[in-house]
Amino acid sequence: YSQEVLAQAGQDARTADGVRVHVVANIEMGAEAGGVAGYGAEGIGLYRTEFFYINKRQLPTEQELLEDFQDVARRMGDLPVTIRTLDIGGDKFAHSVDLAPEANPALGLRAIRFCLQERGLFKTQLRAILRASSMGRMRIMFPMISGLGELRKARAIVEDVMTELDHRGLAFDRQIKVGIMVEVPSAVMVADHLARHADFFSIGTNDLIQYALAIDRVNEYVAHLYQPLHPAVLRMIDRVVRAGHANGIPVAMCGEMAGDPRAVPLLLGLGLDELSMNAMTIPRVKQVARRTDLGLWRAVAQEALTLPTASDVAELINRELNDNF
Ligand code: PEP
Ligand code: MG
Repeated sequence: YSQEVLAQAGQDARTADGVRVHVVANIEMGAEAGGVAGYGAEGIGLYRTEFFYINKRQLPTEQELLEDFQDVARRMGDLPVTIRTLDIGGDKFAHSVDLAPEANPALGLRAIRFCLQERGLFKTQLRAILRASSMGRMRIMFPMISGLGELRKARAIVEDVMTELDHRGLAFDRQIKVGIMVEVPSAVMVADHLARHADFFSIGTNDLIQYALAIDRVNEYVAHLYQPLHPAVLRMIDRVVRAGHANGIPVAMCGEMAGDPRAVPLLLGLGLDELSMNAMTIPRVKQVARRTDLGLWRAVAQEALTLPTASDVAELINRELNDNF
C-alpha cells in the first residue's frame, strides 16, 4: 500500500453518499491485535480462538485464556473485540481435544454442538471472556448456531457463568453483547426468531456457502462450484440482513466474501452494517466503500436478487463497477 492509502485507512469509511461503513479485522492469535489498527481496523469482528486448542497437547487454562483476552482488550482500547467461542471440528482439527472419527465431520459434532456437550471446556472459555470484559468492549459470538434451541442453551450457560463470577466477586461487563454467526442454512430460515435473542449477527459465508450449495469448502475437486455470488447465497444474506434490522440488531459479515473488493459494493447494497476481514485487506475495502454510491448499489443489489445464476450476478457487478469506479 502507498502511504496515502494507509493514512486514509486510519479514517472512518463513508460511502460516496455519506453512510458510515464499519470495517473490522479477523484475527487468529491475540498477538495480531497489536497490528490491526495500523491497517485501519475499527475493532475485531472475529477472533478465532481455535489456536489455543490446535497443535496443543493440553487444553488451555482459564488463566492462559484470560491473559490473552486481556492483552487483546488492552491493545484495542475502547474498540469492540468479538471473541468467537471454540469452533472445533469440521475442517478444524485439534490435538488437545479428543474428537471421535466421523464419516462427515462438517456435519458432525463441531463448534457450538461440541461446546454444549463439553460444558467444562465451554465454561472455562466463557469465564475468561467475561473476566476480560471488565477491561474492554468484549462481545461473545457463538459459531454454527442452527436454531433457537441451541442459542437459548448457550445463553443460559453464559448466565450460569455470570452468577458464578458474582459469587467469586469477580468483575465483568454485565451488558456484554452476545451474538451469533449465521453460517448454517437453518439459521437463515429462522433468523427472525434468532434476532430476538441475539445482540448481533455475523454472517459466516465460508460455511454458509458450503452448506447452502453442498460444496465442501476444502475439496479442490468442487472448488470451481463454490460460488459466493450464487443467487441462493445472495438471497440468504438479504434475508438475514432484513431479519436483523427488523429486530433492531446490526448485521456483520466475517467470511472471506466480506474482504473481496469486487463483492463489497453489492454487500453494502444488501445492507450489511459491518465487514470483518484479514487486516491487510482493510485499506483496500475502505477505499472501495468510499467510492460506493450506496443508493445506486441498493438498486443493483435488488436487481441481483432477481437474477438466475452466479454468472449473471458477476456480469451485473462487472458492468456497474466499470461504469462507476
Ligand atoms: C465462516 O464460516 O465464514 C467463518 C468466518 O468462520 P470459519 O472460516 O472460521 O469457519
Ligand atoms: Mg465458519
